[in-house]
Amino acid sequence: ASLFAAVEMAPRDPILGLNEQFNADPNPNKVNLGVGVYYDDNGKLPLLKCVAAAEKQLLEAPKARGYLPIDGIAAYDKAVQGLVFGADSEAVKGGRIATVQGLGGTGGLKVGADFLKKINPGAQVLISDPSWENHRALFEAAGFAVGTYPYYDAAKRGINFEGMLAALNAAPAGTIVVLHACCHNPTGYDLTPEQWKQVVEAIKARNLVPFLDMAYQGFGEGIAEDGAVIGLFLDAGLDFFVSTSFSKSFSLYGERVGALSVVAASKEEADRVLSQLKRVIRTNYSNPPTHGAQVVATVLTSPELRQLWEEELAGMRQRIKQMRAALVEKLKAAGVKQDMGFITQQKGMFSYSGLTKEQMQRLRSEFGVYGVDSGRICVAALNSKNLDYVAQAIAKVC
Ligand code: PLP
Repeated sequence: ASLFAAVEMAPRDPILGLNEQFNADPNPNKVNLGVGVYYDDNGKLPLLKCVAAAEKQLLEAPKARGYLPIDGIAAYDKAVQGLVFGADSEAVKGGRIATVQGLGGTGGLKVGADFLKKINPGAQVLISDPSWENHRALFEAAGFAVGTYPYYDAAKRGINFEGMLAALNAAPAGTIVVLHACCHNPTGYDLTPEQWKQVVEAIKARNLVPFLDMAYQGFGEGIAEDGAVIGLFLDAGLDFFVSTSFSKSFSLYGERVGALSVVAASKEEADRVLSQLKRVIRTNYSNPPTHGAQVVATVLTSPELRQLWEEELAGMRQRIKQMRAALVEKLKAAGVKQDMGFITQQKGMFSYSGLTKEQMQRLRSEFGVYGVDSGRICVAALNSKNLDYVAQAIAKVC
């Protein structure tokens, strides 16, 4: 028999399957709200001006492409630390953070997961219920058993915070807790600063291992506001992991730019951690690619380009907020009785709309409006042209 005779077909990625269905749909009014991508008001994936300007600079002084160091471009890693932890923070100044360039946020998570498996092999991983699809698969692929902590409360249209805290307080020491630093995917519901404090206290009291996934910094309330949670973990004196993604905040999805940072108790510890992270990388893909990180480092370290980036990021954030507010208004105008105001309370690209699987299926089959069966819609794919159509379609299935 062939070597592959018994190979089973892997399940299709549900979101990619939705995209295929969308592409095949002949409906001229179709709208794809299933994606995890920010589109501008013309429905186009933006190329940020700061990125184009950095690329122009890089092209003007083209360089040969040698191998990068295993942990990536030093100036990039330093810029990531400054952005995520604050360049003046005691942990950065004291050299207590090991940061490596990663292949997007996913790559940062995976390097962290593989490293954790070496130092904490028997631990369980807890992710939010629900969470980004890939969290479970990624930590399982690294060899961990993955469980969940309660998060979304459908009846309340919010977070089951008591349930979440109870789960953390019941977790054995060493449990790895994956937390969305901001703009929770898929629900859009974030913890309040007060709730974050309680989470940090529980993690500290129980000796849990926090792994913060920060894929949307700047998409919620602002770069500093969305990153504020990092300060709480630093202040608590915890060891923790942070994965960073620039896919959304720089609209650099295909360049795979991200990072992993591990905060340790001392510089000496961080140096040893870094040496192990490098081993994980070396045995997986040897070293990261040059272009995307070069672009991000150029933007973050040039005062003018950084200013431009912050403005462009603010533009994306504000457009999302406008779409949220406009959707709520249009739903009301279209006759939806129920108060949909919760949509403006949610943060980031996604909204748990509260629509049922049946309603989501009707949206697709009758109106060509594609969202995920869970009720998740990508608010960042709404625009001034498709908003009326989407609101009226939702009103018709409500
Ligand atoms: N983490 C979360 C919560 C995400 O939503 C995503 C992207 O959708 C990622 C990580 C991965 O980001 P990247 O595309 O940079 O790998």
